[in-house]
Amino acid sequence: MSTSIETKCLHEGYEPKNGEPRQLPIWQSTTWKYASSDDMGALFDLETEGYFYTRLQNPTNDLAAKKLTALEGGYAGMLTSSGQAANFFAIFNVCEAGDHFIASSSIYGGTYNLFCVTMAKMGIECTFVDQNLSEEELAGFFRPNTKAVFGETITNPVCSVLDIEKFARLAHSHGVPLIVDNTFATPVNCRPIEWGADIVTHSTTKYIDGHAISVGGAIVDSGNFDWMAHADKFPGLTTPDESYHGIVYAERFGKGAYITKATAQLMRDFGCIQSPQNAFYVNAGLESLHVRIQRHCENALKIASFLNAHEKVAWVHYPDLPEDDYHELAKKYLPNGSCGVMCFAVKGGRSRCIEFMDSLKLATIATHVADARTCLLHPASHTHRQLSDEQLTEAGISPDLIRYSVGLENADDLIADLKQALDLI
Ligand SMILES: *Cc1c(COP(=O)(O)O)cnc(C)c1O
Repeated sequence: MSTSIETKCLHEGYEPKNGEPRQLPIWQSTTWKYASSDDMGALFDLETEGYFYTRLQNPTNDLAAKKLTALEGGYAGMLTSSGQAANFFAIFNVCEAGDHFIASSSIYGGTYNLFCVTMAKMGIECTFVDQNLSEEELAGFFRPNTKAVFGETITNPVCSVLDIEKFARLAHSHGVPLIVDNTFATPVNCRPIEWGADIVTHSTTKYIDGHAISVGGAIVDSGNFDWMAHADKFPGLTTPDESYHGIVYAERFGKGAYITKATAQLMRDFGCIQSPQNAFYVNAGLESLHVRIQRHCENALKIASFLNAHEKVAWVHYPDLPEDDYHELAKKYLPNGSCGVMCFAVKGGRSRCIEFMDSLKLATIATHVADARTCLLHPASHTHRQLSDEQLTEAGISPDLIRYSVGLENADDLIADLKQALDLI
């Protein structure tokens, strides 16, 4: 029906019929009623589609996920309680104890911790790699038990851009899927599936929600990865699931296998469901996403240019700046702009940076990013404080790095705020 991303934001997903509400209703119910025991039994056997318990599925969640799936150009999608849950499920759906996967070292601190510490306790090992290494160098990190490759389109917090095609080629030549966290770019600015990614994840907490209202996550599967062609690597998808009467997901559900397994097994057992109320906010956020993202990018470019030219600023990383190290990759993967997040440092090191941050009046210090109000934080003191100096360096985070997330305020007001704080130091 709709072809452009803007129209899809409004019209994909929930399509009301005659006399139905125009806005996505919230199915605020734990359970559904059935006429007979057999009717409900068929759902438990995954023989018919339908709803029975909100821990597994809820129509509000499914319709919001359907809109996001359409925007990403995917085949099937699901919402999760948080971005953390989305990335955990995305990996755990294809890895089990004894398996290994590869992730860019330049990723969100929470994801780094999940992969490095918690998944290691589950017997799943992650090798972190410098995403700028050559294809030949990166190929050296694959092992016989490697099951997935993971990266972020635009990394949080250092704003480097992933060469998605390079990572997709590497993953596919080793018979494993590429999973890309597309939180910062959003499907408005980049659709990783078009560049070869197999699975896309989101923290909907950020731009998709857009107003710092609710924590949530999402997984979208392209349906393109052929699990059966690599059946020995992915027994969870290609051999019978005894907890569902011996269903073989890849045979029974084809392109829907990955999301069906993640729902039927992982959501059933871990229960990281998003509340229907929050799914409603996700859907509403997606409706205006294209307008907001454009403004976030316009504002950010003005601010990055201002900072870049300021004598008290040591450096700025923002991919839309022509002199940025990632500008070439940004032009290819993010031709309409990257995102509203940038990082920079003021001259004089870590303590001067903190002094500067404390002098800002409009931008607030918050453990958040990518919402309507401008906020900032200092990863070395906040989000990444659990990392050693060595790990910080490995993740490309210098001790003076300030992550600045540009909101939807007037750019000149934000620049005036930065200027008065810079004048004070
Ligand atoms: C915030 C974030 C996450 C984690 O999401 P939550 O919703 O906070 O659990 C994952 N990836 C990226 C890129 C993020 O920015």
